[in-house]
Amino acid sequence: MGRHQACKVNLVADVFSMKERSRIMARVHSKDTLPELIVRSKLHRLGFRFVLSPDYLPGKPDIVLPRFRKLIFVHGCFWHQHKGCKASERPSSNLEYWNKKLERNIKRDKRNVNDLKRAGWDVLVLWECQVRNNDSLEGRLEKFMRSASAHPPLRRKDIKGGRYEKQKTDTN
Ligand SMILES: [Zn+2]
Repeated sequence: MGRHQACKVNLVADVFSMKERSRIMARVHSKDTLPELIVRSKLHRLGFRFVLSPDYLPGKPDIVLPRFRKLIFVHGCFWHQHKGCKASERPSSNLEYWNKKLERNIKRDKRNVNDLKRAGWDVLVLWECQVRNNDSLEGRLEKFMRSASAHPPLRRKDIKGGRYEKQKTDTN
């Protein structure tokens, strides 16, 4: 096992229970999309260690960095309706069905991001088209990761039994 790999495993081991840990590690290969893998490998190259999304966070963010209290969504342009993006164009048939479905997705995404921010997470949303085409992805990730967080990092005791405990700052 390489040093980086060991580091990642240690972080996962440190923050999550054994059961949670094996579930997370099992998911590494199961449902990753290419844009997610690209973002993860860039983060890895920049020296940041992350965990894959625990189920208890709203919207199941794709990448979670508990120590930095930051998380990243890698959104598909169609399902999450990237505004102004060609890939987000709605189908011309069954318009009513699609409008209802996609509007619901937009509303849910907005609510999830708000909930996460209120719980003290810094949130970055990356769009699939940006991840595929954008040379500045690494710069964006670095800027996001280096920006100061308004909240203290999560500690082990903040995450219990698959749920994260609300921070003092949330109730102010
Ligand atoms: Zn897009």
